[in-house]
Amino acid sequence: MLVSAKEMLQKAKAGHYAVGQFNINNLEWTKAILTAAQEMNSPVILGVSEGAGKYMTGYKTVVGMVNGMLEEMNITVPVALHLDHGSYEGCKKCIEAGFSSIMYDGSHSPIEENVANTKELVAICNEKGMSLEAEVGAIGGEEDGVIGKGECADPEECKRIADLGVTMLAAGIGNIHGKYPANWEGLSFETLDAIQALTGDMPLVLHGGTGIPEDMIKKAISLGVAKINVNTECQLSFAAATRKYIEEGKDLQGKGFDPRKLLAPGAAAIKATVIEKIELFGSKDKA
Ligand SMILES: [Zn+2]
Repeated sequence: MLVSAKEMLQKAKAGHYAVGQFNINNLEWTKAILTAAQEMNSPVILGVSEGAGKYMTGYKTVVGMVNGMLEEMNITVPVALHLDHGSYEGCKKCIEAGFSSIMYDGSHSPIEENVANTKELVAICNEKGMSLEAEVGAIGGEEDGVIGKGECADPEECKRIADLGVTMLAAGIGNIHGKYPANWEGLSFETLDAIQALTGDMPLVLHGGTGIPEDMIKKAISLGVAKINVNTECQLSFAAATRKYIEEGKDLQGKGFDPRKLLAPGAAAIKATVIEKIELFGSKDKA
């Protein structure tokens, strides 16, 4: 059964580790991530962007597939199904479809509008036992077509949104989505420290986990980050393994064209990436 991300993230924050959010795109992705989390005895958050939701034909399909897998694969670790960077309308749809967690990304709206929409969604999520992530300070990089520049959130605005009763808070601290450019200046630990000082026990979320050096990840966790989003890295692992399979001509040998064979190396690569991240984030055996 899907669970809210609240308990797993509060435990993570108190225990100084982070839970990974791994974005899903299809059946192979979902199965690989669930297999890895179960093997590692780790809680896990399945992230679904609005674009990925559309790709999978809609949120109801996603909920049906994930719930089916939890049962058929005998998954016993805590799993949250979470809307990633949701619009106000997207959040409403996911609440109705049976997600257990949502992110409302009001970072592109004026702070007053962000506050008003967040307040309303907090009330709905509390009533339904769901978790809610809010974002302050746009996180740069390409995010389903939305391109922003790296920026740092205002700690006072973070406190204002945290005080509305959200479950977890994403704040820009110089992190970006996608691959990091060679001239990237690194995370702003000064900003993160100031945000944690004002928001206390609130689990903080680090977006754009692909390509952040391990020492920075560990330092961010020590400063209150309890959820780390990984998306691009699984895509790169999947693509590289699939490319290798085809370049080696394996799809031309015997029944190598069978999608269950063709997609197997990519799925195994996603699983390996997830296991690596669970170890780095410290959530192994924290189910
Ligand atoms: Zn993000």
